[in-house]
Amino acid sequence: MRIDLHTHSSVSDGTESPAELLATAHAAGLDVVGLTDHDTTAGWSLAEAARPPGLTVVPGMELSCRWFPADRPPISVHLLAYLFDPGHPGFAGERGRLRAERLQRGERIVAALAADGYPVVWDRIVKRSGGGVVGRPHVARALVEAGVVESVDAAFATLLHHGSPYYVAKADTDVREGIALVRAAGGVPVFAHGLATKRGRVVGDDAIAAMAEAGLLGLEVDHPDHAPHERAHLRGLADDLGLIVTGSSDYHGSNKQTPIGACTTAPDQFEALLAAGTGSAPYRD
Ligand SMILES: [Zn+2]
Ligand SMILES: [Zn+2]
Repeated sequence: MRIDLHTHSSVSDGTESPAELLATAHAAGLDVVGLTDHDTTAGWSLAEAARPPGLTVVPGMELSCRWFPADRPPISVHLLAYLFDPGHPGFAGERGRLRAERLQRGERIVAALAADGYPVVWDRIVKRSGGGVVGRPHVARALVEAGVVESVDAAFATLLHHGSPYYVAKADTDVREGIALVRAAGGVPVFAHGLATKRGRVVGDDAIAAMAEAGLLGLEVDHPDHAPHERAHLRGLADDLGLIVTGSSDYHGSNKQTPIGACTTAPDQFEALLAAGTGSAPYRD
């Protein structure tokens, strides 16, 4: 069994439609794939309709959250949520707030860039996004197409970097509130790439323990951005805290180098995750 529980389609910031993503997963020999677009479930029905026979699809999402340390600025954290009820009012309301927030943020970034003479137009970016969540990756691609920067990575390293004058911060959900909402909706919250220091500041063990106390059920241990010592540390924490251990590629199509299935989840851990999720069911034969 090859199980990859974290992928992005073009409904958020991946490059493949949900149908194309599932075809990629199938061709790569995966048995199970989780669809976890940022802050939206818009890809779920598309994935259910396009699922190739033999492939199990776990409906999920990656929620943008914040951890608020007592003595330092907040840290951006990502929470994977699986098998929750997409219609749960409290959770759906929070997702709506986040989507509006993300859209506004993109618009403000583009307006600031355009005001300084960069050839980017918000309406054109929205139109080209295909109706999903429009975020900084879409702005980055527009900058590449306009010849301002050479690549999406270069855009993120310069104009879209958090140190750039064009950067606009987000008002993400407190991660403990996010965990509570996922659980209330019958879902399984898993802390995504928790020690990926190459992505920026990471939380300490105290935060992960607090998340477990708030109802966290799993840790994403095997992730392309985790070094071996970071994986070992997280595995130890999961063991101490009684959490499910997952592994996944965080596939984004051609927006990132990582192939689908680059990291995988053990079958017994997947079974534990399935048993804990009561808000919706996986799509399978
Ligand atoms: Zn993430
Ligand atoms: Zn992701």
